[in-house]
Amino acid sequence: MKINTIDYLKYIENVYEKLQNNREYVTNLDLATGDGDHWNNMNIGFGDLLKNSEKYKDLPMDQLFKNIGMTMMSKIGGSSGVLYGGAYLAAAKTLKGKEEFDLEDIYLALKTMVEDMKKRGKTEVGSKTMIDALNPAVEELEKHLNSKEEDLVKIFENVKNAAINGAESTKDMPAIRGRASYQKDKGIGHLDPGAVTMAYQIELLCDYILNNKIGK
Ligand code: ADP
Ligand code: MG
Repeated sequence: MKINTIDYLKYIENVYEKLQNNREYVTNLDLATGDGDHWNNMNIGFGDLLKNSEKYKDLPMDQLFKNIGMTMMSKIGGSSGVLYGGAYLAAAKTLKGKEEFDLEDIYLALKTMVEDMKKRGKTEVGSKTMIDALNPAVEELEKHLNSKEEDLVKIFENVKNAAINGAESTKDMPAIRGRASYQKDKGIGHLDPGAVTMAYQIELLCDYILNNKIGK
């Protein structure tokens, strides 16, 4: 199983589509816990990537990640731009020279991204942020790689569910990082918008692989 740049650009398109279908929902989550711009920030980033996908389609995966990182860093405002931008740039470095990503590379990319986000955002798991969706997905993938699990359907279904459950777990958390931490109620009772859009991305990456790469 390997994913290449064309696969990743199709996945980006799927994320963009999912964002279009959840504009109000995500905006309202950020209105409840932050300043209401999270959907718009993500939409600008993914919209720009999609608009320029012709320019990217012949790049190797590491260069694609570098370009995604630079786009996110420069186009997306707010915390998410810096966090996603930095994370993609860090993953591009870890996977330097890779034309395509195999299972181990996907793990390395996601692991590098979550570690970079933690460092940059001075955040750990349990702070009510996007890390609460990404970290459990990375841990789940790591667990399957360590146990030499070979059933890719099982792996990607579990990784996807780990991200979705992780996002869900932010509902009852008091925020330690992000704008919700400045609120009196620390956002308790509301899902973290960044965790929700992170779970969308993990879910769609897993679905792309499940639908297009396994048994094909
Ligand atoms: P801003 O908070 O600057 O308005 P966005 O609305 O685009 O930026 O993104 C908000 C999301 O960013 C939050 O829901 C949270 O998931 C994430 N976030 C904010 N600060 C941090 C941090 N220090 N570490 C990790 N994630 C963070
Ligand atoms: Mg915001």
